[in-house]
Amino acid sequence: MFKGFNLKYPEYEVVTPQSHLSFNVRSLNVQEEEKLKGSLMTPTKITEHLNKCIYECIVKKPDNITEYKNFLDLITLKDRDALLYGLYHITYEEIRNYDIKCSNCRKDFPVTVKASDTFNYEIYPAEDILLKRVKVDLPKSIGVSVHIKQPTLQDEMVAIKSMSSRPGTTMDVITETLIIEKFEQNIEASVEPLIISDRTDIIDAYRTLPAKDKRTIYEKYNEEFGKYGIELKMKVFCQHCGAEDTVNIDLVENFFRMVYSS
Ligand SMILES: [Zn+2]
Repeated sequence: MFKGFNLKYPEYEVVTPQSHLSFNVRSLNVQEEEKLKGSLMTPTKITEHLNKCIYECIVKKPDNITEYKNFLDLITLKDRDALLYGLYHITYEEIRNYDIKCSNCRKDFPVTVKASDTFNYEIYPAEDILLKRVKVDLPKSIGVSVHIKQPTLQDEMVAIKSMSSRPGTTMDVITETLIIEKFEQNIEASVEPLIISDRTDIIDAYRTLPAKDKRTIYEKYNEEFGKYGIELKMKVFCQHCGAEDTVNIDLVENFFRMVYSS
């Protein structure tokens, strides 16, 4: 009977950009890759397997993370990007044959990139990421404001589990509205504003917003929360027309691409 090779897997240290926690992650093994390949069925399963996979690959973690449950509570979506980057980097090292669509001539062309060459990291400057809320008055929906926050892995799990089976609700809208904690609407007849905080109502309210208001929400989110994290950016030249372009690599998408192609 096979007793194990007694291997020491390669490790990579990640300091999460928003919660400022330090982790060591190790590379995926073949069995874990297989498990991820089998998980690409429903959005709930993808998210759940991805989170569990990251958690299981953590070999050193801070004292306040004692179990999977508080990992979900304390880690934000931007922190997960950084952990995923660490996992990606230590498992695959490179992003190979990444297909890019030229923004000038619209043709696809392949590039080979070293993930580490494209890496940018901006750390959140305070310690209040989980408690911070920002109120944004919507420019087109007069009298309506939105309270935004940085969602955690737990917020995402709860929203996906409760919303993804609701008819007509897409994953995009579930993900986009995670940053919204509540809407407030001033009512003329009332001193107190009307509060919309139920997840279903938030999604329905969000869908009725003028497009300009959506942009305002995301600009504010990015300025206050979203820009703090990692980014994989690179400059490329189109093989067909020679145009220069700067592309942002979607880490989650590429992670699964690598899992599949390996
Ligand atoms: Zn081109």
